[in-house]
Amino acid sequence: METEVVKIEEDKIDQSVMKRAGEILKAGGLVAFPTETVYGLGGDALNKESSRKIYAAKGRPSDNPLIVHIAGMEDLDAITKEVPEAAYRLAKAFWPGPLTMILKKSEKVPLETTGGLETVAVRMPVHKTALALIRAAGGYIAAPSANISGKPSPTLAKYVTEDMNGRIEMIIDGGAVGIGLESTIVDLTEDTPTILRPGYITMQMLQDVLGNVEMDRAIIQADSKLKPKAPGMKYRHYAPNGDLTIIAGDKDKVVKRINELASAMQAKGERVGIIGTEETVSLYHGDSVKNAGNREQEETIARSLFQILREFDDEKITVIYSESFDESGIGQAIMNRLLKAAGHHVENV
Ligand code: AMP
Ligand code: MG
Repeated sequence: METEVVKIEEDKIDQSVMKRAGEILKAGGLVAFPTETVYGLGGDALNKESSRKIYAAKGRPSDNPLIVHIAGMEDLDAITKEVPEAAYRLAKAFWPGPLTMILKKSEKVPLETTGGLETVAVRMPVHKTALALIRAAGGYIAAPSANISGKPSPTLAKYVTEDMNGRIEMIIDGGAVGIGLESTIVDLTEDTPTILRPGYITMQMLQDVLGNVEMDRAIIQADSKLKPKAPGMKYRHYAPNGDLTIIAGDKDKVVKRINELASAMQAKGERVGIIGTEETVSLYHGDSVKNAGNREQEETIARSLFQILREFDDEKITVIYSESFDESGIGQAIMNRLLKAAGHHVENV
């Protein structure tokens, strides 16, 4: 299959492209598109054949459900059974935006889209191109991240092309995404709202609206035998080709240890990548040293993390060392992704 790549500016959306992309989706084809979190791989959420194609294009296990993207509150009722009051409160506070809610699904949503579950994940993105595409497609786009399963989520269209060229009909290139990490997922089908995947919308932000909110225990004790409630969280994920280890501890000790390890690995012929921050990046010696951002503004680190992991792959880096990050606020999401990318390999110094 020939994959068409089209550039679209969020503030100057070409409606003729949207119409064409919408028709591809309505006919059961796949279109990758930018959102504020990461690039999504979209198909018609109400068409089971489209969902099957998404799993095939990504090489995604079929028990790992897709998120259904909508463009207006009036579209929520058709795909859900019972919408609790908490969902309306969260929607008012965070939609459109990077929050996904798990709700009971209606008959309209095929089990292929929900990985066999009776619940459905729903999100209303804020990215204008995403909203225009959802409308053009008839209202419901199932879209996981637009990467091959297991790889870091794409934050630039060139990484979507790397993974999806020849596998899907169209890629909409909207430039760099704003947030860089996937949406927060909150389950509203149980007594207490529970975060199944941390993201830009933090625990504190959800508690401010709902009061009591829990974190799925499998996220907190991620290396334990507990089964995560979001099926996708059990898989090895976000992984670069290089072998990644997180070095945690006091700044000076971390810098010293990473440089020590880097030299030892280089002596063995490995190509070493290092993830530092603004204040430490000049202190490191490796084949590729990256500045993840500013610790005082953790959104800068969220935005660069997946891109850095992809760049290491481009640079044929075989061993990676990363600093660790504070787990408060959005840091919880950053560490969740970094720990998964590292297969929970952490050295404390
Ligand atoms: P991705 O689209 O790649 O961001 O992955 C979607 C995530 O949402 C995966 O971790 C899924 O397991 C999770 N998810 C989607 N639908 C549900 C659902 N009905 N219940 C629990 N988790 C879900
Ligand atoms: Mg994903």
